[in-house]
Amino acid sequence: MLNYRNTEIIELKSQIIEQFGIKLLVKREDQNHPLVSGNKWWKLKYNLAEALKSNHDTLLTFGGAYSNHLYATAAAANELGLKSVGIVRGEETLPLNHTLSFAKSRGMELHYVSREAYRNKTAPLFIEQLHKQFGDFYLIPEGGTNELAVKGCAGFARTLKEETAFDFLCLPVGTGGTIAGIIEGLDDTKNILGFPVLKGSEFLEEEIRQYTQKNHWQLLYDYHFGGYAKTNGELMSFLKTFEEEYHIPLDPVYTAKMMFGVFDLIKKNFFPLGSTILVLHTGGLQGRSGFSF
Ligand SMILES: *Cc1c(COP(=O)(O)O)cnc(C)c1O
Repeated sequence: MLNYRNTEIIELKSQIIEQFGIKLLVKREDQNHPLVSGNKWWKLKYNLAEALKSNHDTLLTFGGAYSNHLYATAAAANELGLKSVGIVRGEETLPLNHTLSFAKSRGMELHYVSREAYRNKTAPLFIEQLHKQFGDFYLIPEGGTNELAVKGCAGFARTLKEETAFDFLCLPVGTGGTIAGIIEGLDDTKNILGFPVLKGSEFLEEEIRQYTQKNHWQLLYDYHFGGYAKTNGELMSFLKTFEEEYHIPLDPVYTAKMMFGVFDLIKKNFFPLGSTILVLHTGGLQGRSGFSF
């Protein structure tokens, strides 16, 4: 299996936190593995086990040019001695960006498809063509979300529950696989708050309900900053100030948006006096390289 390192829970202290009478904790899951970090480790865990068990020697998956999932999959395959193929949305742009050049350096074969073709990536015919081209492979969906990914994240949530007491758990949401697992792994004495980073992501509710029947969660839609990988001055200055104050790095795509949302909710008195809020640092720091700041 992949290496795993236990991570710390850090308490953040500041005037505003004190003023609103809450406790704010951050689980530094971004430090669980140097390359397969954060939620990606847990999403891949059982998929990798299944790929090995079923004697596949190649992983194939999908992502955009800045995908943390492609990056993590390439690293995981490399660590386990598997081959990997990345189906990348859009045309090749040279020189390769940091994410894709890393993936390539870990042996991932990059295969570019048009945005149109990419939209059909789950169609049986498309998968069949991929099999003709790349032979046998273990398929991991875009973003790594499937039943086994949800199972991995549920397992993580169970360990978290043993580790510390909390009332709210906050995390960023992309495809919804991670939050679905977290919901499954926790009982309804905990409130789970997801911060979607995509614009117009109301479809996520249904997506999440495919994996869990539980209801102790909610999505906060006001913190996407214009959409996936979009930022503005307000977000970037929040990120900088946060890093200076707490010495915890954030990425502009996922964790900065969530953390901005958490502080905004604190200021709006969303959290009852005396609550403990656990924020999950889901990693993704490799994605910082795509931004200048
Ligand atoms: C992929 C990713 C997410 C989103 O996870 P989903 O399971 O797709 O919702 C959140 N944070 C970071 C840092 C990620 O890389």
